[in-house]
Amino acid sequence: MRIGIGYDVHPLTENRRLILGGVDIPYTRGLLGHSDADVLLHALMDAILGAAALGSLGEHFPDTEPEYRDISSLVLLGQVNDLLISRGYKITNIDSVLICQEPRLAPYIQDMQTNIATTLSLPADTIGIKATTTERLGFAGRGEGIAAEAVVLIDRI
Ligand code: MG
Repeated sequence: MRIGIGYDVHPLTENRRLILGGVDIPYTRGLLGHSDADVLLHALMDAILGAAALGSLGEHFPDTEPEYRDISSLVLLGQVNDLLISRGYKITNIDSVLICQEPRLAPYIQDMQTNIATTLSLPADTIGIKATTTERLGFAGRGEGIAAEAVVLIDRI
């Protein structure tokens, strides 16, 4: 077995959709980034790549590439999983945390879990997703951005 860790942050800004775990969440602002800026899936993909020592998300999908502009990170997640499988590994389980003061994410967690499970062809009960605030401390607490952390366990196919 091998383990991987991922971390990502994106700033919150006007005139962007807020997409987390592939779920379009109604809110006054969204995350800024070259792709859909889905911070949860970015942290998750870095954890998957890291577990197999396959580099980082930015190396595989450079933010200078027009083909990745506004692309759904679920599409990229599928590609990362294909790469992992091609190297002879499969995901055993995932755990993750969204660090976000607002909006309240609890109502959307199950849909995020379903999206990730479907994309990775994994049972939903192998995918942990939690949301926490920082009690208004730091950039996340001030609503300047959203962060996510993920860990992934992989094993030989
Ligand atoms: Mg990112």
